[in-house]
Amino acid sequence: MAPDTSSLPLGGGFLLAPVGSQRIDTPADFTDEQREFFRSARKFAVERVVASADRIEKKDFAVTRQLLREAGELGFLALDIPEQHGGLQQDMTTSVLVAEAMTTLGAWSVIIGAQVGIGSLPIVYFGTEAQQARYLPKVVSGEWACAYALSEASSASDAMAARTRAVLSPDKRHWILNGSKQWISNAGFADFFIVFAKVDGEKFTAFIVDRGTPGFSVGPEEHKMGIRGSSTCPLIFDDAQVPVENLLGEIGKGHKIAFNILNIGRLKLGVTCVAAIRNVLEMTVPYAKDRKAFGKPIADFGLIREKLARMTAYAYVGEAMSYRTTGLIDRRAHAAGHERGTKAYEADHIAAVEEYNVEASILKVWGSEALGMVADEGVQIHGGYGFVEEYPIERVYRDNRVNRIFEGTNEINRLLIPGTLLKRAAKGTFPMMDMGKGVAAALAAEGPPAAGAGPLARERRVAEANKHLFAYASQVAFEAFGATLGDRQEVMGALADVAIEAFAVDSAVTRALQKPDPVGEACVKLYAEEAHLRAWGRARAAVLGSVKDPAAARKHLGRLRRLLDEEPGDLAGWRDLVAGATVEAGKYPLAWA
Ligand SMILES: Cc1cc2nc3c(=O)[nH]c(=O)nc-3n(C[C@H](O)[C@H](O)[C@H](O)COP(=O)(O)OP(=O)(O)OC[C@H]3O[C@@H](n4cnc5c(N)ncnc54)[C@H](O)[C@@H]3O)c2cc1C
Repeated sequence: MAPDTSSLPLGGGFLLAPVGSQRIDTPADFTDEQREFFRSARKFAVERVVASADRIEKKDFAVTRQLLREAGELGFLALDIPEQHGGLQQDMTTSVLVAEAMTTLGAWSVIIGAQVGIGSLPIVYFGTEAQQARYLPKVVSGEWACAYALSEASSASDAMAARTRAVLSPDKRHWILNGSKQWISNAGFADFFIVFAKVDGEKFTAFIVDRGTPGFSVGPEEHKMGIRGSSTCPLIFDDAQVPVENLLGEIGKGHKIAFNILNIGRLKLGVTCVAAIRNVLEMTVPYAKDRKAFGKPIADFGLIREKLARMTAYAYVGEAMSYRTTGLIDRRAHAAGHERGTKAYEADHIAAVEEYNVEASILKVWGSEALGMVADEGVQIHGGYGFVEEYPIERVYRDNRVNRIFEGTNEINRLLIPGTLLKRAAKGTFPMMDMGKGVAAALAAEGPPAAGAGPLARERRVAEANKHLFAYASQVAFEAFGATLGDRQEVMGALADVAIEAFAVDSAVTRALQKPDPVGEACVKLYAEEAHLRAWGRARAAVLGSVKDPAAARKHLGRLRRLLDEEPGDLAGWRDLVAGATVEAGKYPLAWA
């Protein structure tokens, strides 16, 4: 039975439906069980991981392995794994909440992220019964650690250009692998690796490679700017003999495994960055209250309060995008009602993740860049102390940098955002062109979306205007370049930025409408104000990158200007409200845990 997903929003559907018309999942929807998972994982992360941070950061892998086993005993490695293999098989929202709770040390997030995510999910979703029975119980208990090896020295963004080869041995009992992999997280201590290689140099395929496989070795540790406690090494395959039963999935279908698993990685990376924003507030607000300059706490200064208010607003907006996306995935995955632990159930999950891969890429780009800004401001608020190792903000700043690089660089993810929508439009599964033409016609005839009344009226209007900016700019770009639009990267990047802000504001407004709260509403207002100007600027860049003729460009810019909402708002008042609540709470003031 095909899942009945007809009543669920399409991936990218936030661009189509009026703001607030679709109910989204928010922290108010978390079940008691989900909250309990979060709280107990947080307790473990604080009491065990943070307490061991110095040793983890020195790459004391005995400690890391011990912590993995402890996390296993407490069930934190079991969330995505079927019950018949010792797992708890929870939904995406629960899995993400535990990942957030574990976000206390960048290196640990990468270690456990590889264990429960990219290193083991390929077996959960694509493994045979025998492979699942052999590997998954040991992943759950933390006895075995795992890793995911896609990147190579000469190709990582361009993963399909991998050079590692696999040929069948003459006796047909082994795949013989030759080549190397680069930048593999957990490699220094992992017991098995998901490795991608080309069968006969052509067919991209996944394998499970055990540590100790003859002909397989792990190279030296990289010396990294951040996440120093995580292991990152190259892998070397020199006639490595991988048993034939360790082929994962189908020959030539490795890309399905590689990219579906990366979609989950991207989503989780984005959400954990939002968790890290809350952490930065927790370390920065008390400092700002304590630290005195010119006879008063620096938290009293307008420029510091402006930073704190922005950080809080970003956390609120990031949460809105995160749980909207995990909620959509959960709903779609469960629509067919397949029994847990069956192949059909796993297939529904992968299909749901794939449907919302645009949202996952948005979260990855937005989360890593938002945390970049927040960590940078956190350092700034700490002044000179932010620049020394004694204060944890220094590590957050370093650790976050890689988030823009791995799980697909932000450039690659930006290209995927409009690129995926365009592909769906070409297949007739996403009405992107109708949307663009509709907005263009409306703008030529009438003007911008009408001003409404009621709560968050301006922000609702701005949310619509952002979507119209995307639709209009996409239409102009498509008319200019047609099927070659994907090659116009600067235009694609600008369109991605508009889509990102459209998703952010739409999600935040919807969250605030569903659960009114003065501080939350002020967060939305602050964010929407800045985001709209950014979206407008990027839509303008997309149009100017597409239209060379000055007269035609002027016409388009005139229409874009109608979408610029310049209604004045009480910026200072909103900022004071959010900053005041943040300073009073001493942390993110809208905490739900
Ligand atoms: C600490 C760390 C841990 C990692 N862990 C893993 C792991 O566990 N498993 C794994 O498989 N990999 C892992 N990686 C690899 C990571 O995914 C790659 O580094 C990343 O995908 C970028 O690839 P690259 O380093 O080859 O850069 P390149 O692909 O050479 O990119 C260099 C620059 O060019 C840009 N660029 C590349 N192609 C395009 C394009 N088509 N259009 C526009 N711009 C482009 C990139 O965005 C980037 O800015 C890890 C990396 C690091 C640093």
